[in-house]
Amino acid sequence: MEVRGATVTFLGGVNEIGGNKILVEDGPDRVLFDFGPSFAPKWEDYYYNFLKPRTTSPVKDLLEFDLIPRIGGLYSKEALADSDLPYRAPEVHAIFITHAHADHAGHLDLVDPEIPVYVGEGTKTLLDAIAGSTAMKYGDHAWRTFPDRAPVKVGGIEVVPFPVDHSVPFAYGFLIRTSSGTLAYTGDIRHHGPRADDTHAFLTAAAAERPAGLLIEGTRAGPDARRNLTEQGVRSEVDRLLEHHAGLALACTYPRDVDRLTTLDAAARAVGRRLVVSARTAYLLDAIAPRWSPGTLPLPGTPDGVLVYNRKKKIFREYEKPYLEAALTSEDVRQHGAQYLLALDPYHFPELIDLRPPRGTPFIHSMSEPFSEDDVDDRVMHNWLDHFGLEFHQMHASGHASATELFEIAHTVKPSVVYPIHTEHPEAFEKLGPGVHPPRLGVAYPVAP
Ligand SMILES: [Zn+2]
Repeated sequence: MEVRGATVTFLGGVNEIGGNKILVEDGPDRVLFDFGPSFAPKWEDYYYNFLKPRTTSPVKDLLEFDLIPRIGGLYSKEALADSDLPYRAPEVHAIFITHAHADHAGHLDLVDPEIPVYVGEGTKTLLDAIAGSTAMKYGDHAWRTFPDRAPVKVGGIEVVPFPVDHSVPFAYGFLIRTSSGTLAYTGDIRHHGPRADDTHAFLTAAAAERPAGLLIEGTRAGPDARRNLTEQGVRSEVDRLLEHHAGLALACTYPRDVDRLTTLDAAARAVGRRLVVSARTAYLLDAIAPRWSPGTLPLPGTPDGVLVYNRKKKIFREYEKPYLEAALTSEDVRQHGAQYLLALDPYHFPELIDLRPPRGTPFIHSMSEPFSEDDVDDRVMHNWLDHFGLEFHQMHASGHASATELFEIAHTVKPSVVYPIHTEHPEAFEKLGPGVHPPRLGVAYPVAP
């Protein structure tokens, strides 16, 4: 059957949290939105930890298990090496990335460098900082950056990027205008963080467009017993904890959750402490500072900024070196614990052996709780906490809207069709009525008013 007009095809993010890969086609024009690896369940069925696709034949090794879409004119010659998918000149004309999380941008390194990749100006800065300080690679591309809310034309398809609130800065939702109607794509979204107004502005613009389809993330759409606060709620709870504790306090959070770092820093300073972070986090803050309103980030090396913790290791990377001279050692932190809130990455737990925190030292877990009960990382973390007698406190604000908020979003935007993606529970949206279509992988759905 020939489909006339525009279509939308979900090549990932179907019945899974992450792995978004959305293809919009309109006549000769083909645009991909996000291109991230599927984390679970499929990816981890075959690859995990150090068991990875071979760098010499990544496409071949991923196609073996249907972990990436089998489409021509998308992958680079290099990535296609040794696979049965022949190289073809680009047939995808642009890729738009909503934000700098791996489940949305992590497969860009497989993509033909000729295909333009559109990202927000801040997102590009952030991606560069991540690539410069981790093993993450995004590949060479014809990068194009867009300013907020400025429409971008790719052939007959017009994309309007709206900043939205999420747990990484510089996150976007898109309005995608085609010849047969508009699609609104939320990316990952919430409105209980510091950029809630951006989310509201996006939803208002989306509703005004009377979209044919709403592509909505549903991370928290299903049953979710996990505890979630607002960003302000995290601040209040950390405040309360620090007010009643005299010695060292520990925290751990996601290194790119700049809102949380800002929250922890403000809470620490309110009680006369300083937030201490890794050199990687300090580097990230410095890198994004030019994209931030002046004076609002706790930059290292400034009187009100974060301090840097000097981990014991043999080899330091280039980006770390500028921070080392002024960095605090485990001995400094151990002796003057009451002056600090130390944000420790879980991978840096061996430092606890030198820090020797007194029993009962609070450990603020400012990250999401595990989805499953047999989570390895969680078990190992608790072994360490138990060993040192640390007091566990869960204080986190999710990067994602709650189920109730998601249903409200769909209600506000009033699209003809709701496509729940980035969720293990698309069926949870069905109570919204007959306009809900949990998508199937690889099916081209017509965009129709
Ligand atoms: Zn995501």
